[in-house]
Formats: sequence, structure tokens, C-alpha cells
Amino acid sequence: MPTIKEMLAANEQWANDIKEADPQYFIRAAKEQKPELLWVGCADSRVGPDQLIGLPMGSIFVHRNIGNIFATNDLNCLAVLEYAIDELRVPHIIVCGHYRCGGVQAAMTHSGIQPVDLWLDQIRFIYQRHKDELGELDKMARWNRLAELNVEAQVHNICRNTVVREAWKRGQEVNVLGLIYDIHDGRLKQLGLEFRSQAEWEAHYS
Ligand SMILES: [Zn+2]
Repeated sequence: MPTIKEMLAANEQWANDIKEADPQYFIRAAKEQKPELLWVGCADSRVGPDQLIGLPMGSIFVHRNIGNIFATNDLNCLAVLEYAIDELRVPHIIVCGHYRCGGVQAAMTHSGIQPVDLWLDQIRFIYQRHKDELGELDKMARWNRLAELNVEAQVHNICRNTVVREAWKRGQEVNVLGLIYDIHDGRLKQLGLEFRSQAEWEAHYS
């Protein structure tokens, strides 16, 4: 881990490099942000979005928490979604989970009353809903499959949110999709979940 002095030196170098390559960069950035993507991902330090999908800084509006949960009763999640859609008019939303997620594992293996336990209850409910399917898998496959089912549930939570439904109703582009990241090989995989309208989403869940 570098010292704070080294981090500040690295920052200065970075800012100088950017300015040299693109003298207008910080002038543009200071005016406004125009992200093309809202990323809902896990807080896991190995799953930062910028490098995973190779988008330049300023392209992604980010929300991360333990277990990449879009909690329908969490003011933070709701405010991020509302601001992304109604103010920034972000056209794409990605929910990205990952295999070997510590949050998913904790939800599978124990429960309790600490804040992390209570937060992860939301994944425990998903586990309960899919108990039959998950019960037939071995430990590793069950862990991975629950990470996928969690992404699906969070995509669902976003699509049924009033902000998204109203945006679709007025014809605003909102494309919601689910991805899973494999920490072993750095690859992202699409989960066959992609919704561009209320009709597409309803057709999938009916
Ligand atoms: Zn995680």
C-alpha cells in the first residue's frame, strides 16, 4: 500500500498526463457530467467497473454496495436511480454481480443481527425462493448460481421501480441488463436479462 504522499504524487502525475494528452479535458469535466451508464455493482475491491469495461472516466455513474443489491426500501439506491434517470438521463443500467461474492456466501452460510447480516437478508430471501433448484447443486455451484439469481432479482427490482416505468412510459431510453463477473479470469458474462421496455420486462416475468 503506497503512503498518502505517494498517492498524492501519483495523482499529480495522472492529472498532468491527462492535461497533456487532452488540454480541454478538465474544462469539459468541470462543466457537467454526461454518463452513459449506471452501474450497480458489488463493493468488492476486485470488481471496480471502469477498468472492467474499458470506458473512459466520466462515462459511468456508479452505485456499489455489499452484494450488488438494489434494495427497494433503501433511500440511497432509490436516489441514485432517480437522479440517473430523471436528471442525467442515463440510457443504460447494468447490474453486475460476481462469482465468489463474499456477500452471497455470507447470506448462504449464516444469519444474525449485525448490519451486514440484516442487509444480506435480501439475498437470503432469494435463496429461500430458489431453495429447490439450489439444493441440488454442490457448494461451489450453489454459491455461483445464487450470485446469478441475485443479479436477476436486482434487475427485476430496478425494472419494477416507478422511476423506470415512468421513463419507459414517456419513451425515454432505459436499457436494463444483468452481468456476472468471474474473478478467476476477468471475464464478464451476460445473463440473458436485457429489458428496454415495460412490455419486454412483463413478457419475461409473466
Ligand atoms: Zn461481492
